[in-house]
Amino acid sequence: LLTITAVLLLGLGTAAGYFFAGRAMVPITQAYKRQKEFTADASHELRTPLSVMLSSTEILAEKKESLPPFHQTVLTGMMDEITRMIRMVENLLSLARSETDAAELPHDEQEHFDVGQMAWEVCTQMHGSAAQKGVQLTLADEKTTLVPLPFHGNKDQIRQLLYILIDNAIKYTDSGGFITVSVTAVKYKKIKIVVKDTGCGIPEEDLPFIFERFYRIDKGRSRATGGTGLGLSIAAQIVAKHKGKISVESKLQKGTTFTVLLKDH
Ligand code: ADP
Repeated sequence: LLTITAVLLLGLGTAAGYFFAGRAMVPITQAYKRQKEFTADASHELRTPLSVMLSSTEILAEKKESLPPFHQTVLTGMMDEITRMIRMVENLLSLARSETDAAELPHDEQEHFDVGQMAWEVCTQMHGSAAQKGVQLTLADEKTTLVPLPFHGNKDQIRQLLYILIDNAIKYTDSGGFITVSVTAVKYKKIKIVVKDTGCGIPEEDLPFIFERFYRIDKGRSRATGGTGLGLSIAAQIVAKHKGKISVESKLQKGTTFTVLLKDH
């Protein structure tokens, strides 16, 4: 009888615990949801005036040559900062959007596509900005473009993931450096994306934090490159939504390699 009573009491206690914990969680999750919605709304609202500011400064820039040199510098600085703010707002929006969504990707947001073909397209698009910096961007594996690499997931998000990793590689690699992107099929229906650069590298002590929101290793360095500290947290979120894995290896002054493993469902 004693054992039965003990088991009953324990069961009741656990049930009560779950009940109260559940009730206590409700306001917290609601507040969290509201905060995310606010971020999404605020970033959305900020986008319009920023775009207006950018086009206004672009009009001024058309007459740039007629301005005194100091004013030209001020104008260029303004345009750079506005562009940076637009990027930041867009990043915040995409982060807030994907956090308000359910943790799993809805079925209607997934489709079949070829990741190799997509990597080829993204590399072609970004080739120009790499070349401008004197950095050579290549799609490593010839096979990437020849063998189909079918994948089922959110096409826009995977494109954004590729874009973030390659854009970072360009930002943090000096003239004369190399970036190689490879996309290959690996065992058990997995796709491996590797973005490798010969850039400045990441200090070991910073590596555990780089996927955190707004984390920038050297504010000066990131600012000069127009960084917002949001790119990698978005990348990590995209990978998590696809139930994949992202990892990084880096050596200061040698380079950085990001590896993403995605499972085709
Ligand atoms: P940011 O917009 O500042 O680039 P990210 O979230 O994309 O923000 O990256 C976080 C930080 O990680 C960056 O500020 C940068 O210092 C570092 N980082 C990211 N990618 C690279 C890379 N390929 N090489 C060196 N450092 C990098």
